[in-house]
Amino acid sequence: QIEEPEAGDSEKPSCSLGPPTESEGGDVAKGNVLETAKRKRSHVPLEIFHLRYLSVTDISAQVWCEQQMVYRRERPDLTPPENIVLLNTGKSIHLARELEDHDLVTVSTTSREDSWAIKVLNLLGMLSVLQEGHRVREFPVFGVLENIFVVGVIDQLGYTPKGELELNELKTRNNASMPSAAQKKRDRFQVFLYKYLFDAMVRGCLTPDSFLQRLHLRPEQPLGPHVQDQARKSGFTVSHFRDLLDLLSLNLTHCEIPAIDRLQIEYVHQDSGAALGTEVLAYDQDEVGAAVRYFLAYWKGQRDSRGVDVEDAWKCRYCAYAGICEWRMGKAGSPAEQWKKPK
Ligand code: SF4
Repeated sequence: QIEEPEAGDSEKPSCSLGPPTESEGGDVAKGNVLETAKRKRSHVPLEIFHLRYLSVTDISAQVWCEQQMVYRRERPDLTPPENIVLLNTGKSIHLARELEDHDLVTVSTTSREDSWAIKVLNLLGMLSVLQEGHRVREFPVFGVLENIFVVGVIDQLGYTPKGELELNELKTRNNASMPSAAQKKRDRFQVFLYKYLFDAMVRGCLTPDSFLQRLHLRPEQPLGPHVQDQARKSGFTVSHFRDLLDLLSLNLTHCEIPAIDRLQIEYVHQDSGAALGTEVLAYDQDEVGAAVRYFLAYWKGQRDSRGVDVEDAWKCRYCAYAGICEWRMGKAGSPAEQWKKPK
């Protein structure tokens, strides 16, 4: 869940995803403490993969096939080279759009705190641009979900002619056609998660302790000279990592940026750059809450990873890991255990 704001801040809206239901929580919701403890000792993917945080794309990949996401981490040697080429082409298109709005500056870092300070500085800079009513691209979002730190980057945020705050996600496609329903489901979840994290941030749910405790960062670490210099150019005088976190917390608590009103996904053909179509989404907080709890239970070792369910077995035909997949060879998924389907 998103961390609670400071005690006594009872006026603020909740930062929680809401209570888990029995159907979402499985054995965890039923309080099977012994089973959970046993798994924690032997099988906690966050620890196995040495991860201090997850990205929104990590969690979104679980929508398509969780087992495939696991194999991608365990067996990168099996990832087809064409996937890497497609990924790089997609990144180039995103970069070209970003450069339309601002230049990129390289800043040398000397510690982990410096690296996170750069991300925080980017966020602070974009908050003021957004507050002035302008468009921003590659906007970083952070939050704590189910006690796990999660990071993401929103492609574009801007205001519609009616003054609504709009999130625009750019998806590049190899095929010159709109995606299948299964791909749209994954994309939709990703955009919902961005909105959830963004809205929680501008409600003041992201505290300095969210960074320090979850990422094991040192508040008293002096910032490197290049980072301090970059901060000065952005109008901030900071010397230690804690100064920057306090500044961020202050800005987020007092900013007048609204929650995101409108969500849309823009699909573009990679080769030609031609627009393929746009999907406007109706946000469903219950859906995203249920899905997040289910997906993060895997990372915390509260349940095993799952492959696709029977009706999605067609995905295995296109999967690079089909030859080694134990789920495909040994088990069939139970539709009853799926996370809540789109309406
Ligand atoms: Fe998932 Fe099927 Fe690939 Fe196994 S073979 S990882 S179940 S898509």
